Amino acid sequence: MIRTGDHALVKQLNKSIVLNVLRSKSPVSRTDISKLTGLNKATVSVIMDELLAEDLVIELGHGPSTVGRRPVMCRFNPQAGMVIGLQIEVDSVSGVLTDLAGNIIREQVEVVDSLADIDVAKQAIKNVVDPLLSHATGTRLGVLGIGVGVPGLVNYSTGVVRRAPNLHWNNVPLRSFLESEWPYSILVDNEANAGALGEKLFGIGRDYTDLVYISVGHGIGAGIVVNGELVRGVHGLAGEFGHMTIEVNGHKCSCDGRGCLEMYASEKAVKETIRISTGEEWPTARVFEQLAKGNRVATEAVRLAGRFLGIGISNIANGLDTSLIVIGNRMANGGSVFLESVRESFYEYCFSHSLSKTNIELSQLGKSACALGAASLVVHEYFSIPKMA
Ligand SMILES: [Zn+2]
Repeated sequence: MIRTGDHALVKQLNKSIVLNVLRSKSPVSRTDISKLTGLNKATVSVIMDELLAEDLVIELGHGPSTVGRRPVMCRFNPQAGMVIGLQIEVDSVSGVLTDLAGNIIREQVEVVDSLADIDVAKQAIKNVVDPLLSHATGTRLGVLGIGVGVPGLVNYSTGVVRRAPNLHWNNVPLRSFLESEWPYSILVDNEANAGALGEKLFGIGRDYTDLVYISVGHGIGAGIVVNGELVRGVHGLAGEFGHMTIEVNGHKCSCDGRGCLEMYASEKAVKETIRISTGEEWPTARVFEQLAKGNRVATEAVRLAGRFLGIGISNIANGLDTSLIVIGNRMANGGSVFLESVRESFYEYCFSHSLSKTNIELSQLGKSACALGAASLVVHEYFSIPKMA
């Protein structure tokens, strides 16, 4: 229920609604916005004047009209501000400075031996963020915030990394550290959640309200978007599909379970298949080089992982009835060999496929996808419509 004292909140709510119409429907006139939102023309006009003053809207000139004066068409201006996205990996911090539409302005990478020591990690983050900030000039709104994607369990509301096994981090208050260094809004989330939001805002998921992003790297994680919003679950653990059992008496997993999807469909599974076949340990780069050359061992290993991933994805689609599943992270380098194998077994195992028409695609955001996903955390928060109590 809206009370009188909530006037400022109502104003903010209306402004967010108008801004989201501008972002999704541009170019539009003030009359179009009034029709699309149900807000009266006077309210739209006041909000549009504010957005023009903030540089978030650009007037394009007059559009067509069948009767009367031709309306002034407007569009959202993604160059009004900037955001920073950071991807934390085991031995590196990658950062991007982007505009509000995810267009990359600057990239910065810091590689170290290991980020397990938190002081080393703090310095590496500073070495990425400070150069990016030095290029963040010339916009009306400046830097709106810093988003961080971490490969581990994160409490999104406190910004504490609860557990990141590969980094050996336990209860690291990452947001507090960043807030003590820079005066910006800081958002920390699991890298798969960030990836899912990145696909929704900037990637192949732009026209979808529901999608699942599967991050397939050394392990497997997932981010779930329903009705445009991330689903984090009661304990922040939603999307741990990598530990879904697909073989009852299967390989032992790092989670102490058995037969987990990531033991069969991840990058480490591909390397293990190759090791068994050749007796050699292949680094990741060699796997994809050989795959590109049509090497039989690499091709078969990637196909086998794709087959298992397709089975895992069919379980996800059966449970969630989503529209789009995006495969990201390093295994997206498996290209058409990987994707076709995933699709083939998905069609074979998905109960509801003939009815639901779930699309399966590879991420197209490239090597900076994870950092872009982290940047999208800030953009999403900035444009999110305030919740009424
Ligand atoms: Zn497991």
